[in-house]
Amino acid sequence: MTVREIFVPATITDLTVIDPSEIRNIELTLPQEYEIDGKVYPVIDEMRPGTAFLAKPFGARTGRQRRRMYTRSNPSINAKGVLQTIINDTHAEKADTSVWWQTADVTAFQSAGETIPVLLNLTPDGTALAPYEHCSSIENSNLRLEPDDEWPTMRFLGIALSTGITPFLAHIRHMKALNFGRNSVCAGGYYRVVVSVKNHRQLMAHEELQEMVAEWPQNFAYHPVLTREWPDDWSHGTGRIMNIGEQQNGKQRISLEPLLEIVPNILNEHVRLCGSKEVCRQLTEGLAQAGLQPRSFRAEAW
Ligand SMILES: Cc1cc2nc3c(=O)[nH]c(=O)nc-3n(C[C@H](O)[C@H](O)[C@H](O)COP(=O)(O)OP(=O)(O)OC[C@H]3O[C@@H](n4cnc5c(N)ncnc54)[C@H](O)[C@@H]3O)c2cc1C
Repeated sequence: MTVREIFVPATITDLTVIDPSEIRNIELTLPQEYEIDGKVYPVIDEMRPGTAFLAKPFGARTGRQRRRMYTRSNPSINAKGVLQTIINDTHAEKADTSVWWQTADVTAFQSAGETIPVLLNLTPDGTALAPYEHCSSIENSNLRLEPDDEWPTMRFLGIALSTGITPFLAHIRHMKALNFGRNSVCAGGYYRVVVSVKNHRQLMAHEELQEMVAEWPQNFAYHPVLTREWPDDWSHGTGRIMNIGEQQNGKQRISLEPLLEIVPNILNEHVRLCGSKEVCRQLTEGLAQAGLQPRSFRAEAW
């Protein structure tokens, strides 16, 4: 039996440019209810931090609507039905939708009130619609956040390459909304996030994360690292977080030294990584070459 897919029209409510032609904040707002075959269903939103929704933007190369997944960067806990994400131009040979999102076409689309279809599912009891989530359980290959009664006793190290920061923003913002799990008997969860981007223009949520460090020093740390260019007064990290060399046998030697300078005790951390397939492979191999086994390791590659 073919399951009928339910795409609902989402309004584009934000298209803030982070780095012109390269990175944009996107916000899609879902309708509060939606009618199917004469029946009106409420739209509910319990998306778990770290999961992705599915939308149908246009492709700049193909001129057609394409199905693409985007990790939500804001938590559903305090923004029901408002799906935020951050999208970059991948510059890949076949890049299509990632280019369209950076163009004036999408701004014109927004001004004209055009909508973007977003996939929703009927809830198991059939009474409401909820955003599709790309993963429904915790696996080593996804970044769905641990349950709210687990993470308050965990220490996380989130390593984000460029827009790979999106799942970590959802994690951190969700935890902050719950006071990082701090109460009279529990010191709460600890989240250290290391973000690697090319230059300061590409820093995402930079001020917000700095403010969070000032407000929650016992539960949160933020280490932005610029790989290609940095302002004279830049006081954070520079260069690559891993160094790639060659071994005598021709295989790659992956040194995690720059990362370990930021995080001396990686063995104590639940390491989470979001980036390209290649970066995920390199970090996994770098840990193995150094004989380092963190408390747990989960990585998602796009
Ligand atoms: C779970 C998940 C979460 C994601 N979250 C985000 C996010 O938060 N932010 C973000 O920017 N991106 C995210 N992505 C990536 C996003 O979905 C898109 O893949 C990305 O934006 C690139 O889209 P694109 O249309 O430009 O190119 P692509 O998706 O790379 O595809 C372009 C076209 O080329 C085709 N193609 C690609 N490679 C080949 C090949 N080798 N041979 C033949 N045809 C090929 C594809 O089939 C497609 O038709 C996520 C992906 C996943 C799976």
